[in-house]
Amino acid sequence: MEANKRRIKDLIMCPHCYSDLKWLEDSLQCPECNARFPIQNGAINFIDYSLEKTWDSEFQAEQMFNKTLTAKLYNAGKRLVNNEYKPRDHIREFMSGVRQDSIVVELGSGNRRLRSDVINVDIFPFPNVDLVADIKRTPFRDNTVEFAILDTVLEHVPEPHKVTRELHRILRPEGKVVCITPFVFPYHGYPKHYFNFSKDGLEFLFRDFSECKVEMNLGPIYFRNTLPLLYRVRVNSFIHFVKGLHFFLSSFSST
Ligand SMILES: [Zn+2]
Repeated sequence: MEANKRRIKDLIMCPHCYSDLKWLEDSLQCPECNARFPIQNGAINFIDYSLEKTWDSEFQAEQMFNKTLTAKLYNAGKRLVNNEYKPRDHIREFMSGVRQDSIVVELGSGNRRLRSDVINVDIFPFPNVDLVADIKRTPFRDNTVEFAILDTVLEHVPEPHKVTRELHRILRPEGKVVCITPFVFPYHGYPKHYFNFSKDGLEFLFRDFSECKVEMNLGPIYFRNTLPLLYRVRVNSFIHFVKGLHFFLSSFSST
């Protein structure tokens, strides 16, 4: 992803103090606040190591290789809420309208890369991640990103309003975001599952965007086992889809 690396250089700054970064051989340095961000396996790491230790690193290591039973079960569960089981594939529909070499970022990408020009951001250093960063405070400069993707990520963030605020900051005017979240879905952790979202909740979170379209989609049927009495309940799962145009007023007022 050499082309991505060149593009990333123009897009990022220090996520702590928003100053320009100095590029060294094996790291980036902020001359203002003295923060240092190492380049590891091709990814720039913006995560504070003390923070990283608070996560379940062992579980995440399993996810990277998908070998254990837990990882297989987890990934099977994940497929229930992502596009692979939906009647409509919103991510692919969204991407079909994105011309090649646009500035498109996937926040909470995990290990997948949707297309070679997508810049992957995740809090964990999966092999396909370009920027290891907190999606509540990314290193992207203001008004630089054209398209953003969040696929079943928001429910895992304890402060989702900070993510939508960050999206509003980094998106260009007329930039677009697609965000898929579960509405009715059981706890699925890893590392934590904080919220499920309603249409009203999503519209509130994206209230600063000039246009916000929420679609409700009937997801797959899943079975829930409850112990000690083992019984099975059929529950409909809903997926929400948000597509919002970036708030336009700031560009009008600055001219
Ligand atoms: Zn700094």
